[in-house]
Amino acid sequence: MGDALTLTVLGCSGSYAGPGDACSGYLVRAGDTAVVLDLGPGTFANLQAHVDPAEVDGLVLTHEHPDHWVDLPILRNAFRYVLDIEGLDVYGTEGTRALATALIDELPPTLVWHTAAPGETLAVGPLAFGFGLTDHPVETLAVRIEAGGRTVLYSADTGPGWDPGLLGEGVDVLLCEASLGPEHEGEVLHLSARQAGGLARAIGADRLVLTHIVPGVDEDTQRTLAAAAYGGEVAIATTGATFTI
Ligand SMILES: [Zn+2]
Ligand SMILES: [Zn+2]
Repeated sequence: MGDALTLTVLGCSGSYAGPGDACSGYLVRAGDTAVVLDLGPGTFANLQAHVDPAEVDGLVLTHEHPDHWVDLPILRNAFRYVLDIEGLDVYGTEGTRALATALIDELPPTLVWHTAAPGETLAVGPLAFGFGLTDHPVETLAVRIEAGGRTVLYSADTGPGWDPGLLGEGVDVLLCEASLGPEHEGEVLHLSARQAGGLARAIGADRLVLTHIVPGVDEDTQRTLAAAAYGGEVAIATTGATFTI
């Protein structure tokens, strides 16, 4: 893979993990730099199939909903009591910090917390991150990641009120949640596949990858509905898949 920007799916099951799957988590790499984006239930196990945890340079958590971060105390068990790893930089919202602090007696020295907010940027090695607010019941960060002139934009969780263009133009891959089947569109602050396709079209994303599909929602239908709204080919995130951005 060399210096290419890649994204590996550690888990992508929406809201809860379906049979044999894990909730949201992604490994983003460029060169020797590795950052984990969300750490939902089951993703720390899958992470270890792709990288030595000691090689992880940072962890970005998009929001406080448990399907996006509750492997953090499990990672901390491993780092503190078994692997003897200290000083992992964790970036997340204030709400996530409060819950993490309640669940883990001491974040440091294992975890070094940095509260991230919409509008902020971050650099980790060659990876540049930008954070923007989505349309979700709690403060939730959409994440734009750039390296070597390539860009992936991750919706995190959002309803249709999110403006994916706020974080900048020129998106190679939009990794977009499509939690809902068409019959549930508008019921909660998540997206249907049709809405995800519309957002990808609105920002002129070169590729669209659907994720966070809730177990039981038919993936082929999601793909078809998203493709019709997007006007291009649509991929579905699957655990273990790596996308070269
Ligand atoms: Zn979620
Ligand atoms: Zn959520």
